[in-house]
Parts: sequence; structure tokens; C-alpha cells
Amino acid sequence: MNTQKSFLIIGGGLVGLATAYRLLERFPLAKVALLEKESSVGMHQSTHNSGVLHAGLYYAPGSAKAKLAVTGIKQMISFCRTENIDHEICGKLVVAVTSEELPRLDELLRRGIANGLEGLRKIDRDEVKKIEPNVAALAAVHVPEEGIVDYRQVCDRMAAIIQDRGGEIVTNAKVLRLDHKANTWIATTTQTEFAADFLINCAGLYCDRVAELAGEKRDVRIVPFRGEYYLLKPSAQDLVKNLVYPVPNPEFPFLGVHFTRMIQGGVEAGPNAVLAFAREGYHLTKIDIRDMLDALLFPGLWRFLRKYPAMALSELAQSLSKDNFCQALQRLIPDIRPDDLEPGHAGVRAQAMTASGDLVNDFHLVIRDNAIHVLNAPSPAATASLAIGEYIVNCLP
Ligand SMILES: Cc1cc2nc3c(=O)[nH]c(=O)nc-3n(C[C@H](O)[C@H](O)[C@H](O)COP(=O)(O)OP(=O)(O)OC[C@H]3O[C@@H](n4cnc5c(N)ncnc54)[C@H](O)[C@@H]3O)c2cc1C
Repeated sequence: MNTQKSFLIIGGGLVGLATAYRLLERFPLAKVALLEKESSVGMHQSTHNSGVLHAGLYYAPGSAKAKLAVTGIKQMISFCRTENIDHEICGKLVVAVTSEELPRLDELLRRGIANGLEGLRKIDRDEVKKIEPNVAALAAVHVPEEGIVDYRQVCDRMAAIIQDRGGEIVTNAKVLRLDHKANTWIATTTQTEFAADFLINCAGLYCDRVAELAGEKRDVRIVPFRGEYYLLKPSAQDLVKNLVYPVPNPEFPFLGVHFTRMIQGGVEAGPNAVLAFAREGYHLTKIDIRDMLDALLFPGLWRFLRKYPAMALSELAQSLSKDNFCQALQRLIPDIRPDDLEPGHAGVRAQAMTASGDLVNDFHLVIRDNAIHVLNAPSPAATASLAIGEYIVNCLP
């Protein structure tokens, strides 16, 4: 590659930031401008998440998620150590509470081993009690490599390093239009125009629309799934020591409501996965007409709802009723009560869906001669961001 090429990166979440970071590490002379529509980087998924470092347990062996999570967690921990970012490798339990879940737990163990996770073990009820005394489980998988981190600090540190290396971060610059003329991309933004040889679209919840601005077909569509959290009141925080997850439903890429001790203190419960009426719909009542029409006119959404009506309704019921939410948590920790919970934050997942109504499970990138579009980077893309950035740089012509 001509190392003096210029790059426009759209989106200042962890994927865009890590891509800029890796680009400037590999090509110190490259001209990199990262365009972000908000007043600061990391204002959406990258800081509205669970703050967990995922080691790669869940993902099909050989998938991009498996490979990039396994490499990515190591890279992220190393970044946190070098840059003094708050993090802790506290380990996680995935717990089976019914006999039907035991074969799925075994499958997770098999996947984790195939993906190369270290120290992974199936443990019995007594050992579960030693690690998490309040968890009711028949068995669990202990994942010692996983942990918690402050992704806000990660975003801010990456942004500072990018600027130190000569990269430009332009905030309040929403990309409105993209033109490709004489081998140059011109991005018209709410600020001014930017030009570069190569375009990298990391626009998260809007990645499909940005790809369309660049002339791509929207073969997969982002459908926003809000994840809502409760906080455990201080009096109940002792019920959870570290990270407690259910065995997920293999039909969906969501992990099921779980308990997460946070790096800055406190314990969260959630997130659920509710269809949102706005791509940045952090509250049930937030509606964006364009986003809603976009979703409602997409046949994939209707096919999804026909295939999984029970899932959509039960997530909505959990969203509308704290008692319902708490019931899902009681499967893991029977002593938890609705009174132990107070409303917490929410995040919205940028989940790609196909026209046939399937959720895209793996990371999905479209690679062209002069552009790369990241069109599905849901969890564990925060953990894996540095590995995704490295992968993108390796794909450059
Ligand atoms: C509820 C929830 C829990 C999660 N938990 C975890 C977890 O514990 N661990 C983990 O590894 N992952 C987790 N994830 C996933 C992880 O947070 C995301 O995969 C990751 O942050 C995606 O980063 P991103 O850069 O692609 O997107 P984002 O962080 O959303 O960044 C995209 C950026 O693009 C900008 N943008 C959009 N359109 C434009 C435009 N037109 N012009 C300019 N800028 C634009 C946006 O403002 C935004 O800043 C979770 C996600 C959610 C929602």
C-alpha cells in the first residue's frame, strides 16, 4: 500500500477508533480523518454496554467473532495495562438452571475449548456455590479469562493516541453525503467537506445508511434492539460477586439478562433485547419516524416477527414490567426481589438483519477496492475492537 494514502473513517465508536489507531500504528505517514457526528467520541454503543471483556466462548468455531474475540480480548487487556485503564479479570459463570440447559452448556464448553479459551471448566453445583453463593445452578461453565473494563476510558485514550500520532478527529461532523470522483471520496458533513483516497464506514447504528450513501445496496438492514438495565440497590449488591450469565438461547445472538459487577462499582442486571422505535432510542417512548418507517417497510422485520413472536413479546413484557424482568433474574439468583432493583441505563444494539428475517450472527464487513463497510459489529465488538481494526488494516489493498 502507498503508505501516504489518505483515509476517512466514519464513526468514532470503538470500531472506528481502533481502526484509526491500527492504521496509524502500521502506516505512520497515512493521513487519517475520523468523522464523528456527536460532540465527542464513544457516545453510543461503545459506552452504552455491559463493560464486559468477552473471551470468545459463545461463537461458532472458525467464525470472525470467535477469532477476533479470542485475539481481541488479549489485545484489549494489553492496551488497558499499557494505558492504565481500569479493568479487572474477575472471571464469569455461565449457569444452567434446568436439565434442558445442560446439553447447551456442554455445547458452549465445546465451543469455548475449540476457540482456544484457556482454563475453561465445567463445574458442579457445590463449586458454583463457592464462587457465587447466591446462584442456583445445576452446573456452570467457569470462564476465568473474562473481566470488566471501563470502555469510556478506552475510547478517550484511543482518541488521544490517534491525535498524538497525527490523526484528525473531527466531532460534530455528521456525514450527509458521499461522492466518489476521480478516485477520491468526498464526504459532505454538517461542518465542511473532507476528501480522501479510502473510506472506512464504522457508523454503528447507521452503518447501513452510510453504506447506501457510498452507493452500496442495503442487503442487510440495521434493526435496533434496545438493551435495558436495572441497577442493584447497595443493600442487594452482595448477591453477586462478579459476572453471572444464563445459558443463551442459541437462536439469537443476545446473551439473556445477566448480572455484571461494574469496574467503577455497583452491579447491573440486564440487558434485555427489545425492538426499538428509534436507532438511538434509549427510552421506550423515543420514536423516530424515519427509523420506524425504515424498519416497518423492511420485509425482514415482519419475517423475523412471524418466526419469533414469543421472543419479541417476552422481551417487551420484560421492558414494560419490572416484575417480569426480575423473574428472568430470579432464574439465576432466586433471592433477588423487584425492590432490590432500580432503573439503570440502556444501550441500543446495531443488529443487522437479512431480508429473510434472520439476525446476522457473525461480524459482517463489505470490502471494496476503495472502501470497507463494517455492517454488523455487535457484541463482542467492544472487546474485539483492536482485533477488528487490525483485520481491517490487513484487508487494505
Ligand atoms: C446493551 C449493549 C451491551 C453490550 N455489551 C457489550 C460488552 O459487554 N462487551 C462487548 O465487547 N460488547 C458489548 N456490546 C457491543 C459493543 O458495545 C458494540 O459492538 C461496539 O461498541 C460497536 O462499536 P461501533 O464503533 O461499531 O459502534 P458505536 O459505538 O455505536 O459507534 C458508531 C459511531 O458512529 C457515529 N455515526 C453514526 N452515523 C454517523 C454519520 N452519518 N456521520 C458521522 N458519525 C456517525 C455514531 O455517532 C457513533 O459514535 C454491547 C452493546 C450493547 C448495545
